[in-house]
Amino acid sequence: MPSQLPTYEIYAVKYAGPITSSVAMVFWNTDWDQKIERNYYIWVVKGKDETLIVDCGMAPAFAKERQMPGYVNPLEVLARMGIDGSKVKRVVPTHIHFDHISGIELFREATFYIQETEFDFWINDPVSKKPPFLMLTDPVANSYLATLEGADKLILVRGDQEILPGIELLLAPGHTPGLQAVSVNTAKGTAILGSDCGHLFRNYEEEIPSCFITDLSAWMRTYDKLKSKVSSLSLLFPGHDAKMVSQFPSVAEGITRLV
Ligand SMILES: [Zn+2]
Repeated sequence: MPSQLPTYEIYAVKYAGPITSSVAMVFWNTDWDQKIERNYYIWVVKGKDETLIVDCGMAPAFAKERQMPGYVNPLEVLARMGIDGSKVKRVVPTHIHFDHISGIELFREATFYIQETEFDFWINDPVSKKPPFLMLTDPVANSYLATLEGADKLILVRGDQEILPGIELLLAPGHTPGLQAVSVNTAKGTAILGSDCGHLFRNYEEEIPSCFITDLSAWMRTYDKLKSKVSSLSLLFPGHDAKMVSQFPSVAEGITRLV
């Protein structure tokens, strides 16, 4: 019974941006001549007894190498809401693109939950070393991940799985082979952190993905799946929308409360 499940609050933690790119990059094959700003985030899912971090952000060295505008070490931003990221016990990297996985070694005491199909592709499949995939890879983070194979710190998830009462991981391929969204029981109903299933709220509203596509038909099925599980479309959160800063209440610099 949903009413008996614990509820959680969700916070967006901006660690880099804004960065400007063509609309066509985040809204596939449209508005090639127009520009849009986006941010980089991790998320905090905060319950009475448990704090879960969704995504790892970027490591300082990698952010420097890529000259990320507005970058702040994700641990510094988390500290502004009283969370010591180096002591957090559970982290859910949604997928193995650099902006979601690079900072993995910042979370020293965490257990990581990653979909097995995602791990197998990025760590063990030679295709992932081809240029379009390498472009989206932090090789340092992926080398570290490879060392975790078989370790207690890494839980390889197969499909949808509840990891805490009221928190379920949802296999949501399309952007990558094994991206996972995070379904969270909140006071407003079921919210979903969809990560890069949509860079923007608009991707979900109009069912147009970003240009970073592994499997377009799988992506469309993922939209159906996430929409069938979320309580309302306004509770389906994207990966990079600047609105997650501008349209939600601020609780500290760079941190807004989504639910
Ligand atoms: Zn991303």
